[in-house]
Amino acid sequence: NITNNDEIVGLSEKNLIDINKVRDSFPFFEKYKNLIYFDNAATSQRPKCVIDAMNEYDFFHNANPYRGIYDLSVDATERYENARKKVATFIGATKASEIIFTRNTTESINLLSHSLGEICINEGDEIIISIAEHHSNMLPWRTLAKRKNATIKYLECTDEGEFLLDDYKNLLSEKTKIIALTGMSNVFGRVTDIKKFATLAHEHGAYFVLDAAQSALHTINDVKANDIDFMCFSGHKMLGPMGIGVLYGREEILDRMPPFLYGGEMIEYVSREDVSFAELPNKFEAGTVNVSGVVGLAKAIEYIKDLGQEHIIEAEKNLSDYAFAEIMKVPHIQIIGGKKADEHRGIISFSIDDVHSHDVAAICASEGIAIRAGHHCAAPLHQHLGLNSSNRISLMFYNTREEVDRCMEVLARVRRLMG
Ligand code: PLP
Repeated sequence: NITNNDEIVGLSEKNLIDINKVRDSFPFFEKYKNLIYFDNAATSQRPKCVIDAMNEYDFFHNANPYRGIYDLSVDATERYENARKKVATFIGATKASEIIFTRNTTESINLLSHSLGEICINEGDEIIISIAEHHSNMLPWRTLAKRKNATIKYLECTDEGEFLLDDYKNLLSEKTKIIALTGMSNVFGRVTDIKKFATLAHEHGAYFVLDAAQSALHTINDVKANDIDFMCFSGHKMLGPMGIGVLYGREEILDRMPPFLYGGEMIEYVSREDVSFAELPNKFEAGTVNVSGVVGLAKAIEYIKDLGQEHIIEAEKNLSDYAFAEIMKVPHIQIIGGKKADEHRGIISFSIDDVHSHDVAAICASEGIAIRAGHHCAAPLHQHLGLNSSNRISLMFYNTREEVDRCMEVLARVRRLMG
């Protein structure tokens, strides 16, 4: 029973986020009435309009885009390209052709490490990444450095999760060719002042790559205003589906980069010996693409725009500040990162004295609370902080203070429950 629900629900009459309306627009909360979902940094839930848009495409419009001259294929191409325009507008890109669809942030960064690495990394060159990066923004660059006999330089972070500009300046040199940095750490939840880092990168003739997996929804994106060369993010962390990701790149650089994957749809001409490649963006989208994923992502962006990204960010800040104040009151909790609420945007990692993070998460799970345990794909950061693992709660604008209260009440009981 498919409904084409184009209505975006969630704003009150005063144009503020109405939490009840918001939650009503997520089928997930209808089914899991008693589950507290605090693992939003891993993946977010999807509003009904996103699921409907994908279902509608799959039910009634499915065809392989670009390949056919019949109506369905032309229509699929149009839907795919319209979504590309929507993504470009969302992040302030000038041209839709600067948007490449991938599977996720990880694939976007791997594409860059191959193709950008091919044109700008030579023996002895340097790549700067931070010690706080997710493995997805670390291992591709390390592998590139190994392949090319280049060097990785780590930008350290303070115990508060801050990257210091002076540390950064000390690392930059004429050998620096690429800097890849997170816009928001998935452990600290701290927002990076991207523009300063990007501008300094350019002063040294290096490219600046932004891992926006966590920041794409939770900060306002503007690749031009922030002077970013490349931006990578995932649909599934911003209310869209899994299996669709984005790579934004400046046209002038993308044009010079060789393809990452080879095959159908990415060529202009092939003969027995010769091949020439398609123009952007198709050059980087080999094989059949994920139209229904792209349709879902475009719908998620529409939902975010209709609700107002600034309203989403404000609601999250209010909830995050509240959660931080409450968690600070829980005995035996060690917060990872800064001790100020503002240093955590919706993500709070912590440990409980003498209790393993998996026990904490298991106790929460038994009480219907989904939180994370482990190193959150940031093992070197945990080593840097002298930790084996930690717990993490990550919030969204659709979470509530009541959920925070309930979670805190359980966290306060964890040590007693352990005997
Ligand atoms: N970068 C950061 C900061 C992340 O938090 C994540 C996922 O948690 C990724 C990259 C990888 O995202 P994906 O698994 O969607 O490729």
